[in-house]
Amino acid sequence: MSHQSRRDFLKIGALGSMLLGTGLFAGSACTPVQSRGKAKNIIFLVSDGMSIGALSMADQLLRRRDGRPSNWIRLLEEGKVTQANMDMAMANGIITDSAAASSSWGCGHRVNGGSVNIGTNNEVHKPILPIFRDAGRSTGLVTTAEITHATPAGFAANMESRNMGEEIADQYLERRIDVLMGGGDRHYNPGKRSDQKDLYAAYREGGYRVVTSKEEIGAALPDTPFLGVFDNGHVPYTIDHIHTPELIRTVPTLAEMTELALGKLSSNPNGFILQVEAARVDHAAHGNDPAGLVFDQIAFDEAIQVALDFTENRDDTLVIITTDHGNSNPGLSSGPDSNFDKLQNFKYSAEWVGRQLDASSSENRIKEVMEEATRLQITDIEAAAMRDVLRGEYTHVASRRRGRSSVYGEILSNHTNITWSSTSHTSDYVELASYGPGSEALSGFVKNTDLFTVMVEAAGIEERYLTFAEGEAA
Ligand SMILES: [Zn+2]
Repeated sequence: MSHQSRRDFLKIGALGSMLLGTGLFAGSACTPVQSRGKAKNIIFLVSDGMSIGALSMADQLLRRRDGRPSNWIRLLEEGKVTQANMDMAMANGIITDSAAASSSWGCGHRVNGGSVNIGTNNEVHKPILPIFRDAGRSTGLVTTAEITHATPAGFAANMESRNMGEEIADQYLERRIDVLMGGGDRHYNPGKRSDQKDLYAAYREGGYRVVTSKEEIGAALPDTPFLGVFDNGHVPYTIDHIHTPELIRTVPTLAEMTELALGKLSSNPNGFILQVEAARVDHAAHGNDPAGLVFDQIAFDEAIQVALDFTENRDDTLVIITTDHGNSNPGLSSGPDSNFDKLQNFKYSAEWVGRQLDASSSENRIKEVMEEATRLQITDIEAAAMRDVLRGEYTHVASRRRGRSSVYGEILSNHTNITWSSTSHTSDYVELASYGPGSEALSGFVKNTDLFTVMVEAAGIEERYLTFAEGEAA
């Protein structure tokens, strides 16, 4: 039955085909953003949970600190990308989670929140990485989350729940994803897995080169399939990474992982598909952590630069730059610009602060830790609020403002003017920028599921690869 629905879906996608090959030119510099032929390669860059405020503040910080715009905004400024807003709704709600969001791109169907490429009637929709693999392309996933997390999984796995990280790790091996880089040791390590299975050994037996530190990688990835797992859970926040020499040595940045992945995947003469996720932008937004948010968004922007370098002087690569949903809608509220500039002096994330404090922490200790992390001197009232929330004694008329993240964010907003609407995902339509073959179809206002159609059509994937062979997905 999914055969039929996929076929119908592609007919609807004829709009995409019509637009392919229209040879549009865009941009002040007359840079051709057109489709001279099919997309050999696809690079899909997603900043997870990025509200427009995160994109804006990263750009504004770079302009004020470094005197240059972010790559994303510069691409818009120079007219080098097709821009759209995108509706990311899931099957059972206006506000999506990352599993349903990535699935909508990964298989072209809206699924229920939390499920990975499993339809509302339990259809097993073949995801885009196995589709491209069967069509002879190389496949890769790079993330700052656990590699088994919702967004990478949405391009490669079929799982009833995003929380089945161990099973997703098993499935990546079965499905022979060529490059896997991120965190998630707990889903691979026999000492941590619930079934004590040594998944690293299983990957090695399956021909993978496996590393758990940046130091083991060397200058380039090997010819074999590659698994890099750089943390027990998610990869550290950029703000913590850049201030911790040990982490700089052992954990690659998102841009470094992207460059390594592109170097390897591009050796396939048939082309590749790579998803790159800045996962912790979402986590920082949940945590109302302005430094976590903005510096991880900047790290994402550096990964965009790697994609730009790769596509310079070539027109065979579709590049998609987007986010899967808004989160907590951060924004710079009115006040002197100098308050926003204080963010440049931050040293550690809210997560780091959280590790130093507990219910027994005194107000003085709270002030000390906050100052070390943010270079701000918080007031007595602010320290008392933090103490209360750590002890579970804090109250607020708004129920969504009673948590530790919210109190932390509000204290910092007093000093930086960066404010938040909540600690959870929002329904905002999201920014979408793209260039290369197929991107012409992605202007104006699009639906999340349109991206699947555009990708398979731009890449010229034959219909026979779009569904699992009988028994294959079981
Ligand atoms: Zn989230």
